[in-house]
Amino acid sequence: MMRQYHEAKARCPDAILFFHLGDFYETFFEDAELVARELDIALTQRDGHPMAGVPVRKADLYIHRLLKKGYKVALCQQVERPGKGKKLLERRVVRVLTPGTVLEEEALDSSQDVYLAALYPEGEKVGVAWAEAASGEFHAAEVGLSDLPNLLARISVREWLLPAGTPAPLELPGPRTVRPPAEFSAQNLRAHFPNALPGAELAACAAGAVLAYLKETVGDLHHLRPPSLRDAEEAMVLDPFTQRSLELLAPLRPEGKLTVFSVLDRTKTPMGRRLLRRWLLSPLRDRARIEARLDAVEALIQGATWEPLGKLLTRACDLPRLLGRVGTGSLRPLDLALLRRTLDVLPEIREHLADLSPLPERLAGLAQALAAAPQGLAEEIGRALSDEPPPDPREGGLIKEGYHPELDELRARAARLRAEIAALEKKERARTGIPTLKVGYNRVLGYFIEITKTHLAKVPPDWRRRQSLAGAERFTTTELEGLAARLTQTEEAARALEEELFEKLCLRVEEELPALANLGEALAELDALRSLAEVAHRRGYCRPRFTDRPAIRIREGRHPVVEEVTDFVPNDLEMDEKDYLAVVTGPNMAGKSVFLRQVALIALLAQMGSFVPAKEAELPILDRIYARVGASDALAGGLSTFMAEMREAAQILSGATERSLVILDELGRGTSTHDGLALAWAIAKHLAERIRCKTLFATHYRELARLAEEVPGAFNLHVAVREWKGEVIFLHRVQPGVAARAYGVEVARLAELPPEVLSEAERILAELEREAPIAREHAQQLPLFGPEDHPVVAELRKLDPERLSPLEALEILFQLKKKLA
Ligand code: ADP
Repeated sequence: MMRQYHEAKARCPDAILFFHLGDFYETFFEDAELVARELDIALTQRDGHPMAGVPVRKADLYIHRLLKKGYKVALCQQVERPGKGKKLLERRVVRVLTPGTVLEEEALDSSQDVYLAALYPEGEKVGVAWAEAASGEFHAAEVGLSDLPNLLARISVREWLLPAGTPAPLELPGPRTVRPPAEFSAQNLRAHFPNALPGAELAACAAGAVLAYLKETVGDLHHLRPPSLRDAEEAMVLDPFTQRSLELLAPLRPEGKLTVFSVLDRTKTPMGRRLLRRWLLSPLRDRARIEARLDAVEALIQGATWEPLGKLLTRACDLPRLLGRVGTGSLRPLDLALLRRTLDVLPEIREHLADLSPLPERLAGLAQALAAAPQGLAEEIGRALSDEPPPDPREGGLIKEGYHPELDELRARAARLRAEIAALEKKERARTGIPTLKVGYNRVLGYFIEITKTHLAKVPPDWRRRQSLAGAERFTTTELEGLAARLTQTEEAARALEEELFEKLCLRVEEELPALANLGEALAELDALRSLAEVAHRRGYCRPRFTDRPAIRIREGRHPVVEEVTDFVPNDLEMDEKDYLAVVTGPNMAGKSVFLRQVALIALLAQMGSFVPAKEAELPILDRIYARVGASDALAGGLSTFMAEMREAAQILSGATERSLVILDELGRGTSTHDGLALAWAIAKHLAERIRCKTLFATHYRELARLAEEVPGAFNLHVAVREWKGEVIFLHRVQPGVAARAYGVEVARLAELPPEVLSEAERILAELEREAPIAREHAQQLPLFGPEDHPVVAELRKLDPERLSPLEALEILFQLKKKLA
């Protein structure tokens, strides 16, 4: 047996081998140690080596936990039934489960794609292919090395395939699997999918590796679709930092709950949810495609069609992933019921779409796809499948009465035999005069006659004793045995026939795979569009307009997430063709960061085909959005905040074009004031003068407001703050010009410093601002400061008045006075 084990293990050395041994899957040696540790189960010894096992019955649970942690599991099963006399059962690795190839519903997250991806680098280019085993989706692309991270940021990959001997072109999240270079073969791919990916050889090589790996780990996938070539340029670039800064999928702060996705997601089906997520991560760049989505969203709002469609779509199942079970022959009876329910809602959905006139192009396309859904399939499942099918197709009770004459006949025969057995009970009761005589059944004995012990004397000689219990005795007779045997046979035949009919039904579904796959896509798209319409309607979004001029005009824009939790103050933004840089000043907590992000999100939503949170929005089509907002989590990665910030800035400077939008919040925070200001200045200037993208730059350093004087196309905005009855009130209103003051002194007033101290502070502040303006003539080398800062100024710069207690402030004020003197 151990030889068998070692042979199996040698075949899949990088997987944990689950070795079928009776009622358990056992793991041995290092696998056992790992499994015991990761799953928190007992480690035992067998012949001196470590062993750990899980019951076969519950193996799924454990396997899925291992997959989620990135491990692979090979199932080595007994492929023979245990029989007498045979010592060693034959065992074979029947399947290798890996994080990127799972099919089982329980192991998949229904709201996210689970892709297996292969990378095939050659020179400066990379072929990329990605597929989802569970749904059969298959895509490929070719990109330059530098664009690879941006492509990968858009797809959720769980496992990577790389050719042996080739270093990974970048850091990859998740487990990697090294494969023989020969598997990265376009020929392999085209042997399976003739003419796939014409002219894209690198993509085809990567796709070949995906195909080979799926065949090896999962087996045949009838539902795998031919790979579609994706244009890496079709989507707006949103790098991972931008995704995070804008809180698209995850909140920046752990206590945050809402994300942009959570606000936008009103989908009713998992497939719709996954698609909407993809749309959010890859806004479009093709104006016609964007407008087509917007047309559809608008039509669904105007007819209020989103509402009934929502109700109907809740009845649709996760069709793409159901097709995975069709393609791998693991369809459950329940799946057929779900499929039928899905097909059954189509006519009503089509009626609602038909009510819209004119029907926009996207919706017309979807209506067509729904119309092309397999005809008669729902009806056939309805006729065949019982209304409450058992979970296991081998259980019987699967097929309805009246579907198949032979089955009906077998069932009628079984019923007759059962009636005869019941009649036998009466007959024997009369014959023996035992009033409590019963015919019973259990799995071990089959049918038997049972009497209480008090009547033992009346037992006729032709009964044969089967079993004695405490108060009862069980018997059988030749007649009962005969009836029972015929009944078992008939039931067995009926069950086998049911299974066969179920298989046929599954095959019938399999024939419709391509049509059903199209249907799944159409329903997902309808769900996503519908969700956008619902949000637009409920939250009062407007349809964005696109302009060929590089100009942004937003009236009463809002932040889609912040407005969910606060009484939101809408804000405008106007950036004309020749406006490149908006410097947004204002004290901490004024609302700078929210304003910046809302602009970026409005542009992003618009290009994904969504309405936007504003009264009016006119935007150019952007190729990239860069957002750097909030505390960077680079500290966790071992980089200093400053280093991380500068690295990110470098990425922006090399990637941004005049068609990009750049959002920088408090850049330069991670270093000393001087360095930070100087770098922030230089970076902003470079963006505005050289790259000429649209940049929004938020800072609480009012010194940066001078950029507006230095740099053509730069202008100032500030977030207004007002004092009212001696209190600082954050108005959250964005206005032209520079913030009047830093408001440190106002905050000090709040803290009830003596009036003399406050007026002295104001006097000094005014003096300092007069004496140490940014020296224009030095702007080239050292743009922000005069050659010499007065030591008092330096001291002042270091202060954060909002953090001082009144007493400390007073103390410092006295010291500063002393220094001046
Ligand atoms: P800053 O970047 O200026 O330090 P934030 O943009 O982080 O400030 O905003 C601080 C808080 O003010 C936000 O958490 C939000 O609750 C509130 N806020 C910001 N902008 C608005 C607005 N337009 N309307 C209402 N509340 C706002």
